[in-house]
Amino acid sequence: MIRKYISSICILVFAIVITSCNNSNKTELNISNKSNVILIFADDMGFGDVGFLGATDIQTPNIDKLAKSGVIFNQGYVTASVCGPSRAGILTGVYQQRIGADENIPEDDFPTERGRIAGIPLSQSMLPELLRPHGYHSGVIGKWHVGLDETKRPLSRGFDEFYGFLNGSHSYYKSTMEFGDNHGEWPIFRNEEMVKFNGYTTDVFSDEAVNFIERNKEEPFFLYLSYNAVHHPWEVPDSYVERLKHIEDKDRRLFSGMMLAMDDGVGRVMQTLKDHNIDKNTMVFFISDNGSPKGQSGTMSNTGGLRGWKGDTYEGGIRVPFTMTWPNVISKNTIYDHPVSALDVVATVAASLGIEKPAQGFDFDGVDLIPYVNGIKDKNERPHEVMYWRRKDDYAIRVGDWKLEWNDDKPNKEIELFNLANDPYEKDDLSKKHLEKLVELQDKFDAWDSQQPDSKVWPAPKNRNYDYGK
Ligand code: CA
Repeated sequence: MIRKYISSICILVFAIVITSCNNSNKTELNISNKSNVILIFADDMGFGDVGFLGATDIQTPNIDKLAKSGVIFNQGYVTASVCGPSRAGILTGVYQQRIGADENIPEDDFPTERGRIAGIPLSQSMLPELLRPHGYHSGVIGKWHVGLDETKRPLSRGFDEFYGFLNGSHSYYKSTMEFGDNHGEWPIFRNEEMVKFNGYTTDVFSDEAVNFIERNKEEPFFLYLSYNAVHHPWEVPDSYVERLKHIEDKDRRLFSGMMLAMDDGVGRVMQTLKDHNIDKNTMVFFISDNGSPKGQSGTMSNTGGLRGWKGDTYEGGIRVPFTMTWPNVISKNTIYDHPVSALDVVATVAASLGIEKPAQGFDFDGVDLIPYVNGIKDKNERPHEVMYWRRKDDYAIRVGDWKLEWNDDKPNKEIELFNLANDPYEKDDLSKKHLEKLVELQDKFDAWDSQQPDSKVWPAPKNRNYDYGK
């Protein structure tokens, strides 16, 4: 199977070379078999917040166009229901619990030791560190949120460029030149220096992304475009909201305006790739870092009917809009129905370069998605038979279509069991009816859980030994 896959890639690359040789603009073509990589990671965007998954009020024409030009994963999961740990998972390709990254970084403690120690440990390779030996130029634009200390910032973790902020929640308009009491206005950095900021972050990050592509179009690049949209605070210029007068609910309209700003940016990024004729040789992932936030009113983001919110292990917290586009390899209008994981991003990129495991740390928990998407694998074979979630006391495990979970906000705090094949909205708790299945899944989760470090390591209680991840 793998040989067949490699052969098809070789034929494809050969075809690209032939095509480019016949093209008068060949000097502008990137005919390298090293594809560019763009990971657009939206923040707190729910399953019902994009047109390509059925939203009819909100407008996401550019995101929809991107999704339909590649594969839409109908069951795409992130590894955490909140920002920081989800990012630790997607940027390393390993379950973040393995490296003690279960929870958001404790910003209140920065710059004390406790705040400094939190972040992705240096013992685990991150994606740009894997790409650098292959000649990639990597940049992150937007929200970082996987390490505040200098040793854990982007330029210490394989990125060549950084423009954005380090923490979790940030004003769209304001930033200061110090780590003051208002974390929402913590500094914006250009590489390692704090810089003054003017503008609306979504628009500015889009400007920066276009500029990054323009400057790096001649070499293989990795762009991690990490919008803080559509995370709170709920701020958006009137110019976007005015385009959405058909939405009556004012909270939804405001949220949709924030989405529209990001959608405009995605459109500009994709147009820039096309303008330079590198769109076909660029793999673009578009994913949300967790599900819908409940917000002020519960009407801002839309879960698309999925149960629960950001912070839950119900589907509404962890199942997200998830697409991949790579025109040289993936047919447009592809729909993939089996569950996939954000962990698969790194493994898929790595496989395109023949990288089988990280230089340092735990082996990938994700898999190369291409053989599944392209039908090289048997269509009944799933990328993941088992998937795990764990944060604070909440946990879940999915085995096939069975999902066991425990959420601490449930009044009776009982373990629940669902069969997602028949019940994607998790309405029918089968825990009493299928006790044998409950025991089977709980045992399986316990076996995995017992192999992970203590779940409170990233928040790092002061008396803990910090030598995790070794
Ligand atoms: Ca988030």
